[in-house]
Parts: sequence; structure tokens; C-alpha cells
Amino acid sequence: MKNIVIALAALVLFSCKNDAKKEQENQTYQEVNVYTHRHYEADQQLFQQFEEQTGIKVNVINASADELIQKMTLEGDKSPADVLITVDAGRLHRAKTAGLLQPVESKFLDSIIPSHFMDTDKNWFALTKRARVIAYAKDRVSPEDMSTYQALTEAKWKNKILVRSSSNIYNQSLLASIIAHQGEDDSKIWAEGVVKNMARSPKGNDRDQVKAVAAGEGDLAIVNTYYVGMLTNSENPEERKVAESVGIFFPNQETTGTHVNVSGAGVAKYAPNKENAIKFIEFLVTEESQKVFALSNYEYPVNPNVAISETLKNWGSFKEDTLNLSHLGENNKKAVILFDEASWK
Ligand code: FE
Repeated sequence: MKNIVIALAALVLFSCKNDAKKEQENQTYQEVNVYTHRHYEADQQLFQQFEEQTGIKVNVINASADELIQKMTLEGDKSPADVLITVDAGRLHRAKTAGLLQPVESKFLDSIIPSHFMDTDKNWFALTKRARVIAYAKDRVSPEDMSTYQALTEAKWKNKILVRSSSNIYNQSLLASIIAHQGEDDSKIWAEGVVKNMARSPKGNDRDQVKAVAAGEGDLAIVNTYYVGMLTNSENPEERKVAESVGIFFPNQETTGTHVNVSGAGVAKYAPNKENAIKFIEFLVTEESQKVFALSNYEYPVNPNVAISETLKNWGSFKEDTLNLSHLGENNKKAVILFDEASWK
């Protein structure tokens, strides 16, 4: 009998010890699950730094933005996602209206990110900025020939404009911004005017448009800044030559400012590690992290205290459109319809 008591006591003691150990593990084991379409080395480097600083393990799920949004939708309230990172305010808005994100109150984020670069309901926050500019053939066009996006419809640009398909979100967001500034009627006239001046039926990505300018297929390409940044710093001498042949023009400097879009992050609606998710997003906008972003992908840091890269400095400073980016999402459907009506492929 005595032996049994001792054995039982030992068992109880053992299981208590085991419980305590488990509890301790739960307290120390912290994680954050990040769904991101970004696959840059710089991001990996940042995630590792976050782990070292906080002890919170970063689990990354990489897929295309649309796949991630679909995955979160299918997973519903069982989704392990804590943070969604994607590009374009239009897409972030799509995630928000699909009920995949939740509002976040963070004094730190509010103090760093300008208010027009976050969702009006704080479902997402910008991490980096990119401008949609005109890359022009330096040997055939002078900056004085250009002024606004609207002026791209002038007859002198007939067969000169290169731009990708309207199915691309960057173009949809640009048109959404024009709708917000000028209304639908003028926006439709604009889209029709650009279609009339296209050098070819839209094909390829932004980089291909710049290459087509260099090849003489047209004189102006509507593109995001970082693509030209990548060409400028490419290891491929052919690509560097392409970049050297074009200038960067920031449209609408005398009017509404150049259209700016963002990559951004939001906390998932059913985030199992919400606190960690907020910490993670806050970490990504610190000066330290923003420096890494600024140098890695030739984007503009959203933290105004952080310097831009040499490549961007060479293009000069410019006036940004300060339209709240939530409008890009809100006007997305209208933009898609107008593109269709204007026969912008
Ligand atoms: Fe892109």
C-alpha cells in the first residue's frame, strides 16, 4: 500500500511538473503567421530581425495576392493567418470588403503613417509607396512636352503610348484616382483618349513597356517607379541600357499630384495572434525596417523620416496625390467598367 501511495505521489508530481513545463512553453512560444506575396530577400532579413528582437517566430506563407485572399476566404474563422501583406490599395480594399481584415488601433502606426496612406477604418496600413509615372524616350521627348495624365490624350501622342492591360490593378487604381478627382464622365473620355493613342494593343508587364520605349515602339510608358529602379540596377547590361534611355516624368505636378499607390499590411479578421500581428506591422514601419525596404525594391518608404535610395534621388522629388487611398478600392468596380467601355484591353 505504501508503495502504491509513493508511486501515485510520484505520478502526480510528474504530471504537475509536466503541466508546468507545458505552460512555460506556451508562455515563451510566440508566433505570428504572415500571408505575403512579397518574396524579396529583404523581407526575409526583416522577418529574421523581428524574431531576434521579440522572440516571436515568423511563419511565412508565400503565394500570389489573389491566391492568399482566396485562401483566407476558404479558411474562414479557422484561418491561421495573422497578417496579410499585399500590394495595391485596390487589393487591400478587396481583402477588407471580403471581411478578411480587422480594424487596428495603434498610436505608433498613427504617428508614423500619413493618414491618407491607411484605410479609413484602419483595416490596413501602407508599408511602402510607389508612383505611377511616365517613362519617356529621352532622345525623342522632352519633359516640357508633358504635363498631366490627362494630357496623354492629346493628338500629338497618337501611336506613342505604351501601357499594360486594364485587367492589371495598377491601371485600375490609377483610373480609380482619376474618377475620384474628376468624376466618371471625364474618366471615360480619358480612357478612350489613351486607347486612341496607344502604340500597340496592351501586352506585357510594366517592365516590358519600358523596354518597348527603348526599342522605339512608342515614346511614353505608364509604369510604376520601382520597375525602372530595377532596370537601372539590373545585373543585365541590356536592361541597364534600357533604363538609361528613358527619363522619369512625374505627372500632375501643377494639379492633383502624381498618383501614388502602396504595398501594405492588415491584421487578419480571425488572427489567432493579434497582439503579435500588431507588433509585427509596427516593426515594419520603424526607421530600421523602412531603410531595408527603401534599399531593396526601389520603393519609397512610407516612414517620412527615412531617406530614399540613390536611384530615386536621381529622379528628384515630386508632389504626391494625397487622395485617401481607400478611394482606389471604392472606385475599383467603376474603373473596370469604364476600361471595358473604352475598349482598353
Ligand atoms: Fe509590381
